[in-house]
This record gives sequence, structure tokens and C-alpha cells, in this order.
Amino acid sequence: MNRKKHKDNISLEEAVDLLRSVCAPRKETLQVSLAEACGAVLAEDIYAPISQPPFDRAPVDGYAVLSEDICRASRSAPVSLEVIGQVNAGDAFRGHVSSGQAVRIMTGAPIPPGCDACVRQEDTDYGEDRVQIYVPCQAGDNYCRAGEDFVQGQKLLTAGTRLGATEIALLAQMGLESVPVFKKPAVALFTTGDELIAPGTPLTPGKIYNSNLFGLRARMQELGIKLVQAGHLPDEPESAAKSIAQAALLADMIVTTGGVSVGKKDIMHDVLDILGARQLFWGIAMKPGMPALAAVIGNTPLIGLSGNPFGALATFELLVRPVLAWMGRDDALCTRRIAAVLDHPFPKESRCRRFVRAHYSDGCPGGRVTLPEGSHSSGILTSMRHCNCLIDIPAGSPPLTPGTLVDVILLQKYTEP
Ligand code: AMP
Ligand code: MG
Repeated sequence: MNRKKHKDNISLEEAVDLLRSVCAPRKETLQVSLAEACGAVLAEDIYAPISQPPFDRAPVDGYAVLSEDICRASRSAPVSLEVIGQVNAGDAFRGHVSSGQAVRIMTGAPIPPGCDACVRQEDTDYGEDRVQIYVPCQAGDNYCRAGEDFVQGQKLLTAGTRLGATEIALLAQMGLESVPVFKKPAVALFTTGDELIAPGTPLTPGKIYNSNLFGLRARMQELGIKLVQAGHLPDEPESAAKSIAQAALLADMIVTTGGVSVGKKDIMHDVLDILGARQLFWGIAMKPGMPALAAVIGNTPLIGLSGNPFGALATFELLVRPVLAWMGRDDALCTRRIAAVLDHPFPKESRCRRFVRAHYSDGCPGGRVTLPEGSHSSGILTSMRHCNCLIDIPAGSPPLTPGTLVDVILLQKYTEP
């Protein structure tokens, strides 16, 4: 049985590399409509098929003019022009505007041929057949040029970009209704533990509510990870193995929590034996999440996280996220590491590498990191609220004093690729 083997105690980086070595980055792409593209990872570079705006247009409501006609206009000496027509947004003016003439124009309308500027209606008498212009202007005043945002043929988005609101708005401006994206890795999530019951059911002696199922599911939703199955398994290896075997057929990765340590009811070792899974590692030299394990079932990797609520959340960030980012070619899913100055003392010695929850804020000259009040134990969840990072404290560190420069892993949703 796996349980009798020694724990591997590999580094977090080795654990991530081992998992990546059994997961190929996505090749399969699919075409998705813009309505479904939020959070997807672009599979090809995108070049603008048109310029934006596609035509010279007015940025004001007013009059399109020839600037030369009104170069000396003022309130005391207005210039009078003949208004030869009106052009609204969505129309195109037919005809040419000559010296002495103007066209009534609305914001977003194409500037008629012959005109080289627009005058705001507030700077005129709002005339209909003739208009008095009260201000001078120069060529190009109140005038948006075709292509001032982007020009036809310009590379606007690069393969590997995670599509958010701005990128999708840009794709729409280019007139594209759908885009090629990488198929997202599909994840199945299982919690284990006979002590766990579902929120909404009465609490009975010895039981606690299952928080990992909901917390990790929500985290995956926040991060735009595709979850295809989520459920709870009893501490019974045969039936747990059956559910996991089924999930391995439809998911690209299985994530479990609980049952990975050395207790009698730590069933994941037996489950992997029953499934004939190839174990990649058991045990990472870090706190929390030390007993994490990984295996391959058929072609599907399984990552087993410890069940402690903070341990499960932290190892999800540290171990699962980088592997899913690799599989999905989704750099934006990776966490970001920076250096910051610790504000508080951290009074514990760290014999083993330790990840401590904290709050990072940008500062001048560098970032600052603050520890939450309350317990840091891996079963404690309340102090995780308002935290947005993990401090990476190397093995062999003494207690940390305020002012220490520490390595921080930011857990924000997306980072720019
Ligand atoms: P385990 O990793 O199964 O040994 O569990 C470690 C601790 O975390 C135990 O106190 C469990 O009751 C608790 N725990 C395990 N899974 C969950 C879960 N899904 N939700 C809340 N607590 C859990
Ligand atoms: Mg358990």
C-alpha cells in the first residue's frame, strides 16, 4: 500500500514540474462566439480586418466646416455659412462641401468630403439655413481620423491572451463574431470525509459542514476554471474509487481534498491502489498542504490536497493553478511573485518552508505586507478573509521582524500575460 511508503517531501517547484510533465499543453482549439468568450484563452494572433473608426467622424454635435472659412471668426465678428444639409450618426453625406458652406453634423457621423474641422454647436447660433460661427478653428479641430484607434492589418491581440471585457469589446469593434480559443482543461472536484455534511442539513454529533466543496468551486469560478463535476465522496475506498474512475473519463484533471495523510481513514492511498494509478509524489516540503499527493489515472492527473480548509485553499493556489495554467496555455492564471516589506512580526520559527496568509498593498517605494489578526493554523478559515497573498517563508527561517523583505505570492484573479 502506498501509505507505507515514505513521504517524498519534494519541493513545491518539483511537484509542479512533475505534474506538468504528465499534462500536455492544450492543442485542441474551438471557435467560440464573443458572448461565450469571456475568460477563454486566444489560440491565434488577431489582426484587425478593418480600421477603427472606419471613416473620419465628428466627435461633437455641431457643424462640419472648412477651417479656412472661419479662421478669423469671433463673437463680435461671426462668420456666416450656408448650411447645405445634415448628417446624423449612421448616415453618409452625399455631396461635396465648398468654401462658404457647412453641414449640420451629429456626434459619430462621417465628416463630409471637403470639410477639415467641426465646430461645436455651442459656438454657433444653431442656424438651420445659415449658421453664424462664433469661434475660429484650425484644420483637424473636433475631427476624429479614420484608424485613430487601430488600423487595418494591425496586430491587436496575441495568442495566449486571456479574453476579458476590453479584449472582447476590441474583437467586436473589428467585426469578428467568434474567435479561436484553446479548449479549457475540464476539472472534477471531490471532497472526502465521513465527518462532512452538506450545508442546509441539521448538524449532528461529530459532523461539520463541508466548506472545501463550496470554497474551491467558488474559487474556480472566480478564476474562470472549467469545472465539469463536483461532489463529495465517503471515506470508503471502493466507492470513492468508482466515482473517481468515472470522473477520469470526462475530466482533464481531478482535484480532491482530504484523506491524503497517514490516518486510518486517509483513503486516497487505497483509492489510487484500487485504480492502479501511477503515483507521482506524496508529500511536499511545505506548510500547509504537506501531505498533498499526485497520481495519474489513465491519462488524467489527480491532485489530492489536504482537507484542512486553509490548507486546501492555499495548495490549490500553489499547486493546482500553475498546472492548470500550463495545460490551458493560460499565463494569466499563474500567480505572481513579488518582494514586499513585512509590517508585523511573525513570531514563529519556520523549520519547514511555510506559506502564511497575508494582505499585500502597493506602496512607495515598495509593497507592504500585513498579517491578519487571529490564528494562522491551517484549519482556521476566518483569518483568511481580506487576505490576498501568501508569504513564502524559506525553510530554516528564524522568527521574522517588521521590516523584513519577504517573497509574496499574489492571489489576484488575473495578471496580464
Ligand atoms: P484530512 O485532510 O482528511 O485529514 O482532514 C483534515 C481536517 O480538515 C479535518 O479536521 C477535517 O475534518 C477537515 N476537513 C477535511 N475536509 C474538509 C472539508 N471538505 N470541509 C471542511 N473541513 C474539512
Ligand atoms: Mg479525512
